[in-house]
Amino acid sequence: MARTTARRGREVVVPDEELRDKALLVHERLCAAYGCPIPYFHDLDPLSELVSSLLSHRTKNADSGRAFRQLRARFPTWEGVRDAPLAEVEEAVAPVTWPEQKAPRIQQVLRDVTERRAGELSLDFLADLPVRAARDWLESITGIGPKTSAAVLLFSRLRMPALPVDSHHHRVAVRLALIPPGVTVGPAHRLLEAQLPPEWSAQQVYDNHEALMLHGQRCCFHLDPACHRCPVLDLCPTGQQRVSHELSAEGGGALRERGQRVTPTSAPAAGPHASPGVRGDSSLPARSPAG
Ligand code: SF4
Repeated sequence: MARTTARRGREVVVPDEELRDKALLVHERLCAAYGCPIPYFHDLDPLSELVSSLLSHRTKNADSGRAFRQLRARFPTWEGVRDAPLAEVEEAVAPVTWPEQKAPRIQQVLRDVTERRAGELSLDFLADLPVRAARDWLESITGIGPKTSAAVLLFSRLRMPALPVDSHHHRVAVRLALIPPGVTVGPAHRLLEAQLPPEWSAQQVYDNHEALMLHGQRCCFHLDPACHRCPVLDLCPTGQQRVSHELSAEGGGALRERGQRVTPTSAPAAGPHASPGVRGDSSLPARSPAG
């Protein structure tokens, strides 16, 4: 399991070698199944990516994409959104869940960025910071958590290697025992990021997140994971337990009949963009995690 140590006053997570090896093996298998390198789904500037992330929380991709487009059509600049009457912003983002909460939060975040940047409403300066410093800067703003900070750095055209963890990614990691079951999504960010090689590129970190997320969407389902066709079954204590229960309950016949694994052609087909509802509209914010 991981241990923590202090470095320059900051708590640093140090996973043991066995866990790091396992994380890499999971990455390789899932990458083979889901077709890495996986194309980026966004090419937004970092401030636009931030607004997109704030809109997407607990909202279907198509709805958050529509809200983003409506916002941009009504207010051509983010300064315009920041300074607009709240009711107009709320009306523009009406397709998302909780527009009455998200509209004032977006305006407040835009005001905070402006104030901290001495009048400049842009996040482009983050490109000049180390990843950890950039994340800390973002997370010091109320309403921005580790998932959103990582999304801004990784999904925007900054392309910085920061690992977001969404609910699918988190569920797969818990079932594989990459993180303990009691660790929630927020704290999981540091544990899972520490298992990846520090020299990895943004594309490799992106592939890791996308592959685990896609696995949660297409195989390791919330209620009834398809362990019999999972390419990491031999690495997964949850899957092993489920399979052995099923074997003893069914005498093994049904499982042996279903015993095929996920392959590049049987699971993700033509890659992540081929799955309706996973990405939504590729021209605008299809999905970004928030929180
Ligand atoms: S073996 Fe089952 S529980 Fe484990 S990762 Fe695969 S689908 Fe999920």
